[in-house]
Amino acid sequence: MREIVDGVFEISLGYVHAHLVVTDSGVVLVDTGLPGRSAEFGKGLQEIRRKIGDVTAILLTHWHPDHVGGLAELRRRSGATVVAHRLDAPSIEGAPPPALTPLQRFIGRFMKPAEAAPVDEMLTADGAISVPGFTAVHTPGHTAGHVSYLLDRAGGVLFAGDAAAGGRTVRRSPGMMTQDRAESDQSLRRLAALDFEVVVFGHGKAVVEGAADKFRALAG
Ligand SMILES: [Zn+2]
Ligand SMILES: [Zn+2]
Repeated sequence: MREIVDGVFEISLGYVHAHLVVTDSGVVLVDTGLPGRSAEFGKGLQEIRRKIGDVTAILLTHWHPDHVGGLAELRRRSGATVVAHRLDAPSIEGAPPPALTPLQRFIGRFMKPAEAAPVDEMLTADGAISVPGFTAVHTPGHTAGHVSYLLDRAGGVLFAGDAAAGGRTVRRSPGMMTQDRAESDQSLRRLAALDFEVVVFGHGKAVVEGAADKFRALAG
């Protein structure tokens, strides 16, 4: 587990990241990684001398199995409040997934599906959520209910999920995994209009300074 900025930790689960944030009101997880890998969260919590019962909230960026894979187990063991957008909640709660891209249908034949879990707080609008310090920004495109979260810390930390991907530069998420590319581009422009210093992603390396500028360069 790697500390990106003060109290914001990145857990790598194969090709996807999840994030763990230490706050005054408990530990907050942003996404939960792949199915069958939730032991990594126990290890991560142990590294910072916390336990699963200290997790008070789980914020989900979207319903894809590599982001909600550990959800059911982590919710059960922690009793944390699960937060997600209304439009992605049915898929998280076990409804058949909406329109999939051909690549997603192909992958779905091999990938273990995530265990369904209830969403406790459904987001319908941008703004403050029940977890202090975090703001929700609806960023549809990759999925209809994709949400990015902005944390008021270190000049602003954006949890971009799969609204974009990290690396040497900030990139668009792969088109073959994205439901609506035009909408996704529009969401990138919304993010580019915000102020934040740091960004972490579901896939790819975090940016720890001048992050909003990189979104502005991408969004054009
Ligand atoms: Zn995704
Ligand atoms: Zn992903």
